[in-house]
Amino acid sequence: MPTADHLLVVAGERVPAVEGGTTTVLAPATGEPLATVARAGAPDVERAVATAHAAFADGRGAWPATSATVRGRVLGRVADLLRERASDLARLEAENAGHPIGDAEWEVEAAARTFEFYAGAPNKHHGSTIPVMDPGLAITLREPVGPCALIVPWNFPLLIASWKVAPALACGNPIILKPASLTPLTALALGDVLVDAGVPPEAVHVLAGPGSQVGDLLVGDPRIAKVGFTGETATGAHILRTSSENITRVSLELGGKSAAVVFADADLQRAAASIPMAVFGNAGQDCCARSRILVERSAYDDFVTAFAAATAEITVGEPLDRDTQMGPMVSEGQRRTSLDYLAIGVEEGARLVRGGEVPDRPGFFLSPAVVADVDNSMRIAREEIFGPVASVIPFDDEDDAIRIANDSPYGLSGSLWTGSATRAIRVARRLRAGTLSVNSNSSVRVETPFGGMKRSGLGRELGLAALDHYSEQRTVFFAED
Ligand code: NDP
Repeated sequence: MPTADHLLVVAGERVPAVEGGTTTVLAPATGEPLATVARAGAPDVERAVATAHAAFADGRGAWPATSATVRGRVLGRVADLLRERASDLARLEAENAGHPIGDAEWEVEAAARTFEFYAGAPNKHHGSTIPVMDPGLAITLREPVGPCALIVPWNFPLLIASWKVAPALACGNPIILKPASLTPLTALALGDVLVDAGVPPEAVHVLAGPGSQVGDLLVGDPRIAKVGFTGETATGAHILRTSSENITRVSLELGGKSAAVVFADADLQRAAASIPMAVFGNAGQDCCARSRILVERSAYDDFVTAFAAATAEITVGEPLDRDTQMGPMVSEGQRRTSLDYLAIGVEEGARLVRGGEVPDRPGFFLSPAVVADVDNSMRIAREEIFGPVASVIPFDDEDDAIRIANDSPYGLSGSLWTGSATRAIRVARRLRAGTLSVNSNSSVRVETPFGGMKRSGLGRELGLAALDHYSEQRTVFFAED
């Protein structure tokens, strides 16, 4: 059996899988093997869950019992260590996930900022005193929930892990992190960072292994108090069913089909120049990708021309090349899905304006594709492609724009481009998206809640809102006599 280059993290220590299993992960830029990783199985899950359960000890374990102020200090050290190790982590992420190196560096910094934000939270997230009619005193307590299973996807492996690990630890919970099988490397390295920063080892576990086995076992285990999941909507629905048996707390960040709504009164040049990276960033493998671009009919033709020209300027290349703006897709399967959707779109009557070509080079590259004259009823407008495919859809007026934008099973994020402040207020209030930005592409900030409506998810991550999902609120009443 081959030895793994990257071992699991169980009870804070690097260990091989009990049954010796390994997985080979590929480099998306070459399609060649990048590393061998220990593959957890049922005995590793049992060891991690049993240790995390004992480490919680009904809230009396070392980490939950650590004072909130000290927990905050430890999280601050996690942020410092991530920054100290940033260049190694960024390189690992670029090689394993195919991110352009500049994006990977941004991702490590964003993960550090996430820990920094939650470092300030533990001693400010507290209960309250509530005036009640009965004679006495009613107070609420905020307490950790217990062992948390944190299951993350492959598109932003380190960043999305930090969105869950940081608030879970801030609240005093032991964590078991389950990275995606395609991209486990930075999550395993994060386990080392947590232990080196001072989180008690028994509270830190990172299990690389198949979701259908490791993920399923974690979600179904009665000792797991909370599941934080990011991934596909179908997997989220499965997790809801599995967790229902034990009434395990669940938060779900799922798929999206977000709209950028461009009105004719917007700064069209700015919108056309900036929206391409809102779809093609991370090769379109972004839950917040504005993959439906709705444009007012009077500006439609000019916008499509300018948008396609700006898209043609995107430098597609090797992740480690500093000029690269878009790297390869994560896998051959993911590229195949995008190509299939492009063919379906053209068959349904949409017009391929540019892109969608597979270059003659190794790896999973695909040039960014602009598809115009899309009708919102077409499959490329309704289903999440999770690849570099932008559908441009015309609309007639404000009501029509809102109708089309909201006509989606998803409701994760979106953008609104207009020069009118009153229109921005009117439309922003009517769009059914968890996170919306006006005259901007970015919708995720550590300080503000993030999450989806409809089939895009359940609960909110980031901001102080995330702390509610990782803590219990208890009420205690003291009778006066
Ligand atoms: P998947 O749902 O396939 O996988 C996500 C994670 O779940 C992986 O770690 C996977 O493990 C694991 N998993 C798979 N099956 C199970 C199971 N039965 N029980 C428990 N865990 C399981 O999603 P992808 O990795 O393909 O990620 C892409 C998706 O993530 C897109 O739909 C995207 O929109 C969504 N996403 C949502 C975000 C949001 O914040 N709303 C942010 C980023 C992505 P394994 O890899 O071993 O299969």
